[in-house]
Amino acid sequence: MTIYLDHAATTPVDPGVLAAMLPYLQAEHGNPSSAHRAGRAARAAVEHAREQVATALGVAPLDVVFTSGGTESDNAAIKGIAWAARAAGRGNHLVTTAIEHHAVLETAEWLAEQQGFELTVVPVTTDGIVEVDRLLDAVRDDTVLVSVMAANNEIGTLQPLDVIGPALARRQVPLHTDAVQAFGRTHLDITGWSLGAVSLSAHKINGPKGVGVWVQARDLPVQSLLHGGGQERGIRSGTFNAAGIVGCGAAVELAAQTMTTEVPRLRWLRDRLLSGLLAVDGIGLNGHAERRLPHNANVAVDRCNGEALLFALDMAGVAVSAGSACQSGATAASHVLAGIDAPADKAHVRMTCGRSTTQADIDTAVEVFGDCVKRLRDAGGGYL
Ligand code: PLP
Repeated sequence: MTIYLDHAATTPVDPGVLAAMLPYLQAEHGNPSSAHRAGRAARAAVEHAREQVATALGVAPLDVVFTSGGTESDNAAIKGIAWAARAAGRGNHLVTTAIEHHAVLETAEWLAEQQGFELTVVPVTTDGIVEVDRLLDAVRDDTVLVSVMAANNEIGTLQPLDVIGPALARRQVPLHTDAVQAFGRTHLDITGWSLGAVSLSAHKINGPKGVGVWVQARDLPVQSLLHGGGQERGIRSGTFNAAGIVGCGAAVELAAQTMTTEVPRLRWLRDRLLSGLLAVDGIGLNGHAERRLPHNANVAVDRCNGEALLFALDMAGVAVSAGSACQSGATAASHVLAGIDAPADKAHVRMTCGRSTTQADIDTAVEVFGDCVKRLRDAGGGYL
């Protein structure tokens, strides 16, 4: 049995979420845009999911748009808001941070390199936190969007959005936040922000893959990436993925409703994991010790090759990630680790707990980890 400690990469679909989805793959297979009974039944389920998301985030249902996942939500929000603002003559400047997910960073860089936008990428501290003053100093009169992730996918650091959000609101600059990793794992209060957009992804919170949420404030003009049938207020065309959307709504509700018990449980497991890992000689923590996601442990290991350690752990039945697994198996040092000046000659391992993780999993993982590190070091640090 594999001990799965890679819940930041993806999570298993919760049985209740799956049960909610199944009818919309089978009996209730109507197109939610069709006028007949089957269509109306599917549409009602989509609208119920929209309400579940709106309630969890404290926004109006009309602000909620369903997408194919976090990547699309990030692209749609950043490109759409930037294009519309420029078309309206409001400006041409974007601000983001150096440790955003690629879906944000590459989108912003593409807008700068291919579309003539100006971009300021604000660095983070060696703890992985963006300094508020530095971020706000980067904002100019012609800034049309600031994008700051709520929590980092690799090192789990939480950005001070409770300060950044209201500060940008005072300057009337819209904020987009990628909350793909943060949602359900930390309190996210977007009231009081000059809200531009929020991105979520169902598969990070025990929902299905290939569906996500794009909260796009109704009063903020946006241009559409996808043109077609005019679904979702005309800003995200395409037949509604009814089953996926139902699963997304159920997963969002589950995450929001179980936070008060699940977050302390995850934190307890993660702290137990970290104290076990850090007890091994030559291991240090990446990212901030307290201001981090409750399920995230990311460590730097001396005298070990990262790929070899990942492989040894996998062979021993412990699934973890090096760098970010969202980048299709990449094991090269990530831009996030580079952004916090993490030494390139160490192995960097991310372990993330989830709903199914038990104390026994953690205790076994710690034992296996210590054993793999020792065997690798005994063999000179490389492959066994
Ligand atoms: N943003 C963050 C912070 C992520 O961790 C991920 C993970 O892959 C994404 C965006 C992309 O989401 P998706 O896999 O739904 O496209």
